[in-house]
Amino acid sequence: PNPALRYKRVLLKISGEALMGDGQYGIDQATCERMAQEVLDARKAGAEICLVIGGGNIFRGMAGAAKGMERASADYMGMLATVMNALAMQNAIEGLGGYARVLSAIPMVTVCEPYIRRRAMRHMEKGRIVIFAAGTGNPFFTTDTAAALRAAEMGCDALLKGTQVDGVYSADPKKDKTATRYDKLSYHEVLARDLRVMDASAISLMRDNGIPIVVFSIEKRGGLADVLAGRGICTTITD
Ligand code: UDP
Repeated sequence: PNPALRYKRVLLKISGEALMGDGQYGIDQATCERMAQEVLDARKAGAEICLVIGGGNIFRGMAGAAKGMERASADYMGMLATVMNALAMQNAIEGLGGYARVLSAIPMVTVCEPYIRRRAMRHMEKGRIVIFAAGTGNPFFTTDTAAALRAAEMGCDALLKGTQVDGVYSADPKKDKTATRYDKLSYHEVLARDLRVMDASAISLMRDNGIPIVVFSIEKRGGLADVLAGRGICTTITD
């Protein structure tokens, strides 16, 4: 790892929707490649990176439940959706010459490796991009919580949440011109004011483990590498 980096080992969480590009559903190949390039650029700068990708571009448990499915079954479908996104990202990273491994919380050994913490650690030490698939493996959770859990397990220096905006704002910057971006927030403020950065269980897990959450724009070219170097535009959530 490069000692000049602000964060040396990070978990990057992106939503499934980040892979849709301009589409309304599913995976856009060009967008996947762009995300993969961001990750590889950051990797080249010396950071160890692992990823959690959501599944909302394909299936969400809540949406299935709203249509009358049993929630747990719908959630398993949502977790399977994240495996598809993980495979797409693995493919995009390797297509650009990087090394990536998908580790699934729901074992499917003919498709990818099962999640084994120490194996994930070893991949990271070897400089591979580890992609955690199938969330936590449990229904009634989200990929935000999975991201927080894996960040803690991997001993990450930060949990990076890549979104469409460059941080947390006082109001929706797309609707309200007077909205201002926070440079810093505390876990408590985020929870008490219900700022909806990530779900509450993810935030409290990061608070309990003292891991900062950094919200930044994944749409901006070079944004990830900038945040890792400590010069990016973002909101940092700490104590
Ligand atoms: N999911 C789950 N357990 C987990 C992670 C995810 O049941 O540990 C399911 C849940 O149904 C969720 C879906 O997978 O709706 C997709 O994940 P999420 O909604 O977090 O994706 P994102 O909004 O980040 O694209």
